[in-house]
Amino acid sequence: MAQIQAIKGFADHFQDSSRLFEMMEATAREVFPRYGFGELRTPLMEYTDLFCRGIGTETDVVQKEMYCIQDSKGRSMTLRPEATAGVMRAYIENGVHAREAVSKFFTIGPMFRHERPQKGRMRQFHQINCECLGPKEPEADAEIICMMMEFLGKLGLKNLTLQINSLGCASCRPQYRKTLHDWLAALDQDKLCPDCKRRMETNPLRVLDCKVPTCKELTAAAPVILENECPDCKAHFDAVLRHLDAEGVPYQINHRLVRGLDYYTRTTWEVVSNEIGSQGSVAGGGRYDGLVEQLGGPAVPGIGFACGMERLALLLEGRELPEVRPDFYVAVLDDTCRDAAFGLAQSLRRAGFAGTMGYESRSMKATMRQAGKSNARFTLIIGTNELAAGTVIVKNMESGEQREVPAGEAAGCLTIA
Ligand SMILES: [Zn+2]
Ligand SMILES: [Zn+2]
Repeated sequence: MAQIQAIKGFADHFQDSSRLFEMMEATAREVFPRYGFGELRTPLMEYTDLFCRGIGTETDVVQKEMYCIQDSKGRSMTLRPEATAGVMRAYIENGVHAREAVSKFFTIGPMFRHERPQKGRMRQFHQINCECLGPKEPEADAEIICMMMEFLGKLGLKNLTLQINSLGCASCRPQYRKTLHDWLAALDQDKLCPDCKRRMETNPLRVLDCKVPTCKELTAAAPVILENECPDCKAHFDAVLRHLDAEGVPYQINHRLVRGLDYYTRTTWEVVSNEIGSQGSVAGGGRYDGLVEQLGGPAVPGIGFACGMERLALLLEGRELPEVRPDFYVAVLDDTCRDAAFGLAQSLRRAGFAGTMGYESRSMKATMRQAGKSNARFTLIIGTNELAAGTVIVKNMESGEQREVPAGEAAGCLTIA
């Protein structure tokens, strides 16, 4: 019969890569709770409308990249392309805002986007997300950035740059947007790329993060948002930077770091690695004070970030993980010893050891070959003689030394390294 293959862009993770993922998750679960974050697991699928409102219908994600299906009643549902919208929905729907002034969540899991697969970018990819809802104060911004940098640092990542910017607020950004629009309108329009020509009218800030070199060059002297912000936004951003300085967290201000949607406000950031080329961004976040309201909830400020786990895995590739080695292998030399071997393996597991039994009974030579392959530290051998005597032979696979002990004492032998 013909083989069935995995869907393009959907990967299997065997132990080598799943252990890397496990290590990232364990690090997240160690660091985030110290900052008051608790895990929230939301569904992988939500009504499509949630993502249209939460991500924006003008974005590539919503227009081109979502996996949508219809249920039998014709309702459109979508595999989540990102985590934040689902977290907001859960927060609003469960009335969490009425119980807590501050809520901090982290989520870990798969997301789905129909993009062109390439190195470090999969259609099913994995993210670690953190969201803090409630505080509008700059300490919340600085805290979540420090937490993220601590997390990335604990993973052992180096050569990372934190880029940061402020996007202003509802009272100062419209004026900046107009200033920028008028400045862009005075340029030679034929030199802008078609996307930028369109964005200039719909969302001039997005022109600043256009990757086309001629656009970058043409807009190099564009007005800078930080110089056009209201005093409150300025004070907020200054406080965030002051806290980062105090904590010794290095950063670069990037005036071109913008986000396309109105609910993003003030602090925004990205962590870039210079080791993975054009796919350099490993984490990104920002304040989204208008999002909860946009999704039908109360006016609660929020801030959060996301890390792409496949990107992090690329940076961690080749890194030595501690060796995983079973403690024991129970060899079966005769079918009559099967019950004893099964019982012995179980008793060793109950005592905290890891290992397996050789299911098939084999000759001594064949069984020792299997034991060697298993890479276990000890092989325990039960043949008809040992069965009759109620003993087991314990062989130290490192030294080759072996001895026969009463079956009940086998566990004690494994603790001797
Ligand atoms: Zn402002
Ligand atoms: Zn452009």
